[in-house]
Amino acid sequence: MEQAAPLIDPFARPVTYLRVSVTDRCDFRCTYCMTEHMEFLPKKEILTLEELDRMCSAFIRLGVRKLRITGGEPLVRRNIMMFFRAMSRHLESGALQELTLTTNGSQLHRFADELFAAGVRRVNVSLDTLNEEKFARVTRWGRLPQVLRGIEAAQAAGLRVKINAVALRGFNEDELFTLTEWCAERDMDLTWIEVMPMGEMDGTDRVGQYWPLTELRAQLGQRYTLTDLAERTGGPARYVRLEETGQKIGFITPLSHNFCESCNRVRLTCTGELYMCLGQEDRADLRAPLRAHPEDDGPLIEAIRAAISRKPKGHDFDYSRQRPDGQVSRHMSHTGG
Ligand code: SAM
Ligand code: SF4
Repeated sequence: MEQAAPLIDPFARPVTYLRVSVTDRCDFRCTYCMTEHMEFLPKKEILTLEELDRMCSAFIRLGVRKLRITGGEPLVRRNIMMFFRAMSRHLESGALQELTLTTNGSQLHRFADELFAAGVRRVNVSLDTLNEEKFARVTRWGRLPQVLRGIEAAQAAGLRVKINAVALRGFNEDELFTLTEWCAERDMDLTWIEVMPMGEMDGTDRVGQYWPLTELRAQLGQRYTLTDLAERTGGPARYVRLEETGQKIGFITPLSHNFCESCNRVRLTCTGELYMCLGQEDRADLRAPLRAHPEDDGPLIEAIRAAISRKPKGHDFDYSRQRPDGQVSRHMSHTGG
């Protein structure tokens, strides 16, 4: 594939990481992410698998090296393995360095082997609690044993699993050590995420849910020796190693700290809108140039470049005034976490 000039934003940050939401649908209804009765988009709005392929391939031609597939729940999209298989050609050519996904794990037992065969080597699985009753409560429709089976299948297939947990005050505070130990026993890293003010939730109190990771980290430090790691992924995550277990613990702290200065990513929704920042409303419609020119990627590439030239410096999320300032109206499942 012919390489074009790379994508550089107005703050001289190269954009090399694309997160793609392949569906807004999900088989769970996590309380911090969705309302119970979400309305989903009509099918004609959603990019087809072929359109997703064209879109991602254009970004790869523009220097994207890492592709993360997310949603909604990516593994509930029909025939999604076709898309993963198609993307593996970019891994084989060396244009793409990593193809990965974030999943709730419910379908991993079905797809782990195929994902590995398509070149996926790491997956992030979201898991906020190891208690069956609490799991059913927070996901509304999810069942813990199915997810645990998925995680086992992923590891058996050779995939490296990282667990993502949303830190929720009064919900999983008491599982800080159990989750850490459970992950350590299975050789899995664990990343904690601060709850972000995205989308209206029925009656959910965002500020009340917010468990700052500075506090979580201090608690972890009472039991373990934490060594800061220099590793950066260009996102808002910072990592430490627990010397006692050897595992890596990540902290995604968009609220208590923001690390926008090194941001290297943009997000594509399942309708082909490009969000240049997770925490801002500005977006670019890439579906229009894609559909208007089925044989010519030129207008699409132009639209991508124009969008990147508007990438903002950072987000405005802020809870410090005891209200969720900087809130954005869309749900996380729309842009993809
Ligand atoms: N369904 C997949 C999953 O749950 O992993 C992928 C999409 S989900 C939107 C991606 C990540 O966003 C998950 O780890 C989820 O816990 C997180 N998430 C959803 N809503 C959030 C919010 N309001 N604040 C912080 N993280 C959130
Ligand atoms: Fe679905 Fe993931 Fe949102 Fe939970 S966090 S409702 S699993 S998209």
